[in-house]
Parts: sequence; C-alpha cells; structure tokens
Amino acid sequence: MTAISDRSKVVIALPLAQSLVDQLAAYDLTVLPAGRSEEGVFEAALAEAEGLLVSSNVIVDREVIAWAPKLQVISTMSVGLDHIDLEAAREKKIVVTITPVLSDAVADLTMALMIMLSRRICEGIRAVVSGRWSEVSLGSDLAGKCLLLVGFGRIGQAVARRAVAAKMHVQYVDTRSGLPVVDHVERVGDLAKGLPDADFVSLHVDLNAETRNLMGREEFKLMKSTGFLVNTSRGGVVDQAALTSALTEGTIAGAGLDVLQDEPPHPDEPLLNAPNIIIVPHIGSATRETRSAMAQCAVDNLLMGLRNERGPFEVT
Ligand code: NAD
Repeated sequence: MTAISDRSKVVIALPLAQSLVDQLAAYDLTVLPAGRSEEGVFEAALAEAEGLLVSSNVIVDREVIAWAPKLQVISTMSVGLDHIDLEAAREKKIVVTITPVLSDAVADLTMALMIMLSRRICEGIRAVVSGRWSEVSLGSDLAGKCLLLVGFGRIGQAVARRAVAAKMHVQYVDTRSGLPVVDHVERVGDLAKGLPDADFVSLHVDLNAETRNLMGREEFKLMKSTGFLVNTSRGGVVDQAALTSALTEGTIAGAGLDVLQDEPPHPDEPLLNAPNIIIVPHIGSATRETRSAMAQCAVDNLLMGLRNERGPFEVT
C-alpha cells in the first residue's frame, strides 16, 4: 500500500532548475512544466496544494483559485500580476509574492529599443545583408531629446537613471504620490500634457483596468510625428489596431515593443507588418543572471509563505 504523504503539497507550474527543485525537497512536489495546458491536470494537482509557483504565462484566475482550497501562497516569478486574480486571492487570505529583481534587465532592453529606433539599426542590418552598405538614412541622437516615462515605479526609475546618463530630458507621469525625487527628472500632470513634448514615450505601468489601451488613437494623435513609442510593460497597455494605423499613417515615427496583446501573435496580426516597428519576443528579463535571480527569489518567497513568515515581496 502506498503511504499518503503528510508533507505539505506544492505545485510547480514553470520550468525550474533541479538545484531549485531540490531546495523544496521537504515538500510533496508536483511539477507541471506546461502549466495548465492539459485539461484537468492543473485542477487535480491544486486540490491539496498549499503552495503554487507560477510565471506570468500561467493564468491564476478565480476559477483556478477555487480549485485550491488549501492554498496559502502563490509565488509568481514576475513583477506583473495581471495573470493573477488578486481580489480572489485576498478573499481566501492567500499570500501572493513577486520577484522585483529584474528592473535593470528591462531598463537595458528599453534603452536598446530606443537606440535601435533612433539610430535605424534594423535598417542598417538589412542594408548590409542586401549589399546596400551606403544607403541608410541618418538617425537621431538621444542626447537632448525628451523622454516621457508612463509609470515611474521600479522599472520606470531604472530607465530614468539610464536616460539621464544619456543626456535626455526625462519626464514622467504616474498616478501614485510619494515617488522618489530623482535629479534631472520632472513629473508632469497627466499623459495628455506630457505626450506633445515627448520624442520618446516609454510605457512602464502595470496592466490593470485603467491602463488597458492607455495608448490609443487619441494619445498617438497627441504625439509628435517624429516621436517613438517603446513598450516593455504589457501588450494590453497599447491599442494595437490604433498603433498599426498610427505607424501606417505616419502619425508617429516608429515603435519598439517587447510585449504584445497576444503572445505569440497570430501570424496575420497586422502590426507585424506595420512600417518602422521593432518587435522582440518578451525578452525584458531574459538574461541568465536575471532569470536565475528571479527563480531563486520565487523559491525563497514560496518557502517563506509556506512557513507563514512575512517576506519583503508580498503584494497581498
Ligand atoms: P511598479 O509597480 O514598480 O511600477 C508601476 C508604476 O505604474 C507604479 O508606480 C504605478 O503607480 C504606475 N501606474 C499604474 N497605473 C498608472 C496609470 N494609469 N498612469 C500612470 N502610472 C500608473 O512595477 P515595475 O516593476 O516598474 O514593472 C512595471 C510593469 O512592467 C509590470 O507590471 C509588468 O507588467 C512589466 N514588466 C515587463 C517585463 C518584460 O519582460 N517586458 C518584465 C518585468 C515587468
């Protein structure tokens, strides 16, 4: 007869290095690398689970939370929380934790997209490959240009520090008060006030009911026709149809995106063929160092939650 384990049950719904799985050896582990892809598997695994480890592509909605009556902690290997129903978690007194150890990696990618757009780097690469070495038009400097950061949390601030070092004029909008004062960075009243002066608009808000489609047709119309949009936050913050029109009609000069509404996008998504667009596949935190730090942080958060210890990265 198989003995029923009296160890607490933990569901790991993301790929995790064996050395980290080993740190959870005191628990009865169910490892589901494919998340909830197989019908019923996630539900069955959650029936007895006290801990759940996920990444941002595993949806933990009210239905999923209802499958897990014993759940104490959801540790997500992300800072974005749009995949988790926080209200449902709060109602069940489930602790939710994040891994805010990725701001530098995302800020680096944001700067890379800004430089790729302004220096026409993709055009340059294509020109060399197709034998047109001398045919690339001039780009523009970052120095002296105005950058509007939409969202001045951890990542927005990390971008601001880099942009100030690049001699840009940095402004930001945010709905929170009490944000740190950063030298050479100016707060503006609201998005509509900041957009007309911006040469670059970079999005760093969390995706929520207020920020969904925050950048739409009206907002693009307020931007300079020479302005660039960069989005390393969440695809849902941008109205993709409006962005496609803005690029096609020349309302703005270009866009650099790390995130899309649907990931991966449908092959027929019109935005993929819009002019002056650079899209990379959600690689904001995708460095060896950062992903490794995130995974360790997520495991530490999970262990603290299972032991009922207060951790620094709890959001509920
Ligand atoms: P954060 O919580 O520190 O900052 C978000 C900021 O946005 C907050 O200051 C908040 O007040 C502000 N905000 C919210 N709604 C707003 C609105 N309507 N107008 C203006 N400001 C608003 O989060 P963070 O660590 O800086 O991360 C930001 C987002 O970046 C995450 O929520 C996540 O979705 C995304 N992200 C993407 C990647 C990636 O791989 N591309 C990696 C990490 C995070």
